[in-house]
Amino acid sequence: MYKDVLKGIQDAGLFKQERFIHSAQAADIEVEYPAGSPLKEVINICANNYLGLSSHPEVVKAAHEGLDTHGYGMSSVRFICGTQDIHHELEQKVTEFLGTEDTILFPSCMDANAGVFEAILTKDDVMISDRLVHASIIDGIRLCSAMHDTFKHSDMRHLENKLQLHHDQRLKVVITDGVFSMDGDTAKLDEMAVLCEKYDALLFVDDSHASGFIGKRGRGTHEKYGVMDKVDIITTTFGKGLGGASGGCVSGRKELVEMCRQKARPYLFSNTIAPPVVAGVIKVLEILSANTELRDKLEKNTEFWRNGLTEAGFVLKDGDTPIVPVMLFNAKLAQDVSKDLYDEGIYAIGFFFPVVPQGQARIRTQISAGHEIHHLEKALSAFIKVGKKYNILGKTKQEIIEMYGM
Ligand SMILES: *Cc1c(COP(=O)(O)O)cnc(C)c1O
Repeated sequence: MYKDVLKGIQDAGLFKQERFIHSAQAADIEVEYPAGSPLKEVINICANNYLGLSSHPEVVKAAHEGLDTHGYGMSSVRFICGTQDIHHELEQKVTEFLGTEDTILFPSCMDANAGVFEAILTKDDVMISDRLVHASIIDGIRLCSAMHDTFKHSDMRHLENKLQLHHDQRLKVVITDGVFSMDGDTAKLDEMAVLCEKYDALLFVDDSHASGFIGKRGRGTHEKYGVMDKVDIITTTFGKGLGGASGGCVSGRKELVEMCRQKARPYLFSNTIAPPVVAGVIKVLEILSANTELRDKLEKNTEFWRNGLTEAGFVLKDGDTPIVPVMLFNAKLAQDVSKDLYDEGIYAIGFFFPVVPQGQARIRTQISAGHEIHHLEKALSAFIKVGKKYNILGKTKQEIIEMYGM
């Protein structure tokens, strides 16, 4: 029976094929694609390696040292015998970096989001989430007995209506991503903080695509919007900008973090982050706290990239984050452009329904501090060459849709 189901997925053009990278994650990678093909050296512009830390020599060295001093694994969950001094040290470093009161580590941010709501809310409470929040938040909401409602993406009037509607619940939690990963836009945390204060609601932000580089010191979306003391709960991942290995956390009000330590199931029933990874993330936070060099470089690279694509005549999603979606609207066009870019030595993936809404297919590019200008120049000329081939440079959304359909 599953044969047919899988064939259905294939026929619909939705079958996901993995590409094997033979090198470390970095700006230049060696890829085997399709499987069995000779290795090809390409420039990666679709990783979450925002700060170029995934293979940073100091981070690799710190992980080696962590392996030597603290071993390979803990063979335990935290509360039995899975807590080392470095787990505690990392929690304190995250707290300091994000400017919160306390932090608890999770095996991943997916786990943090799966555990946090159930740990702090009851059926007398309500969760009000942006309609475009990450899948892991949706799963966390499903696992929680509190009532759930949504507001239209970044629509503050709609959010206020919902806060009024639910005013008599015991606790109200407003839930959003800090940076939305598909469009690269940021939540209006300043306005959300005002509304949360007015209606006595808690503010929850998942800053996975922001921690380490958004805001003047890279502390996150709450820094960018000047509301560092107004966000009650932050979840984030160590699997993106903060080194790219694995792990996540819940950081925020002390008593909420303590509730997670007592009750969050992925914390209580899943293994601790491995010691070498913990040591690596500690080094990452040291590097990012010492100066803002990497996030500043990322900002410059992003500006160069956005300006270059705009001047070349591509349609982009507005924004100022390192997530820069090049809009192509048609799913096949997105796949064809991705393939031609690969032939030109540029690794960038096409996104189409159901990952993004129907008719909004795109190439999502992601800029990194690991890129040098020569990488971006080469990528830009490849985009221009391919853009010319498909005659989409200088064309509006409407014109591209007329040529290729939705
Ligand atoms: C990537 C991501 C996650 C999952 O992080 P992991 O640590 O890889 O589980 C959660 N939330 C958001 C918004 C993300 O982008």
